[in-house]
Amino acid sequence: MTQNSHYDVIVVGLGALGAATLYQLSQRGARVLGIDQFAPPHDQGSSHGDSRITRLAIGEGDEYVPFVQRSHAIWRELEARTGTPLMSTTGGLVLAPRDRVAEHHGKADFVRRTIASAERFGIAHEVLDAAGIRARFPQFHLQGDEIGYHERDAGFVRPEAAIGAQLAVARASGAQTRTGERVQSVEPVGNGDTVRVRTETASFTADRVVIAAGAWLPEFLGRQARTDWQANFSVHRQVMHWFDTGSAAADFSPGRFPIFIWMFGDGQEDYMYGFPSSDPTQPALKVATEQYVSATTPDTIDRSVSPEETAAMYRDRVAGRFPQIGGRALKARACMYTVTPDRRFVIDALDGLPHVLIASACSGHGFKHSAGLGEAIADQVLGRAMSHGLDLRPFARQRLLKEKETA
Ligand SMILES: Cc1cc2nc3c(=O)[nH]c(=O)nc-3n(C[C@H](O)[C@H](O)[C@H](O)COP(=O)(O)OP(=O)(O)OC[C@H]3O[C@@H](n4cnc5c(N)ncnc54)[C@H](O)[C@@H]3O)c2cc1C
Repeated sequence: MTQNSHYDVIVVGLGALGAATLYQLSQRGARVLGIDQFAPPHDQGSSHGDSRITRLAIGEGDEYVPFVQRSHAIWRELEARTGTPLMSTTGGLVLAPRDRVAEHHGKADFVRRTIASAERFGIAHEVLDAAGIRARFPQFHLQGDEIGYHERDAGFVRPEAAIGAQLAVARASGAQTRTGERVQSVEPVGNGDTVRVRTETASFTADRVVIAAGAWLPEFLGRQARTDWQANFSVHRQVMHWFDTGSAAADFSPGRFPIFIWMFGDGQEDYMYGFPSSDPTQPALKVATEQYVSATTPDTIDRSVSPEETAAMYRDRVAGRFPQIGGRALKARACMYTVTPDRRFVIDALDGLPHVLIASACSGHGFKHSAGLGEAIADQVLGRAMSHGLDLRPFARQRLLKEKETA
């Protein structure tokens, strides 16, 4: 076993959140080590598939807005620093049937909450009726009763490139990384002011440890005998599909087509979201939906996608809504959501191990906030004040315990 080395901070997991945290720590002069079981960016976790929606008005809650605002600024800084394109501002459309929105009905209520968020934070937007949506985006085949929120500065971020850029700059700034190495345990040393991190082959100590293990978090918590924490998370397989835009490629290019979130029924899964083409060499409409019915684990998930799944996606969701798109799939990928009961993040110290911070930007909406979260986490573990209105307190785990008590 490798001899022990000591760090200010060890970051376990170098995906969206871990790479952002490592990058921010490296910019603050901390002696830092990042460890990942794979070699990020990779396609085994939650941060692959070419694109992630980003939008500034956050219907999920006001507490998220400073994080996405900060993420956009950080990605633009990183683009300038590395010369790598990370984010495309395409505009974004969130739409649902008007009566469902008016009645605060189910998932459609997200449109109302997004408009309210934009108004509170002064985010540039327009509210469009079906005629207004059609006039601007004839690609959508509407029923005629829709209401749409359009945000000028929404778009998509490239997850693999964003992770890669943050890791590259972190390494160039002195951060050490170990990849292909799985962390087995974290444990206090002595009176608990130091934490030991063990992998299969090495052991290190640090003043602080950040666990950003994504979908592997439940299993990690189980190994740490934290079954109470483990019970707060479940992992769900999601699938992304890329349909050939054929002769309509120009209509689905980033200048002409927005990212979109479209609620069309009452159920949690009566919806889809999508993207303009992100790769001009393979023009495609990328679409996905969400499912929370069956749970999985990173070890047992089926990462292949069957032709039947893609055919069902086309038949049930795409065909009637985008008449220009045929059913030819260019690719499909499976990915994992790590989900909490209230669909919000958990960023909190482990009780009894106050120097170990669990960081889960989970529940399917974390990427857009990840760069800002990395900044806040770096400041928190270094004992510095947070800036830019960032505040991690809303993500304390305590709320889940309260909900359990009152359930
Ligand atoms: C299909 C899909 C679509 C999504 N769409 C959006 C979207 O449009 N907009 C948005 O904002 N968000 C979206 N999300 C959510 C977002 O992508 C995730 O919230 C985010 O990527 C999670 O990042 P993470 O760092 O927690 O996990 P990951 O990026 O998966 O990183 C976890 C890392 O930890 C490592 N690891 C785990 N255990 C260990 C261990 N014991 N030792 C060493 N390394 C370990 C893993 O190898 C991995 O690299 C989507 C997610 C999916 C799956």
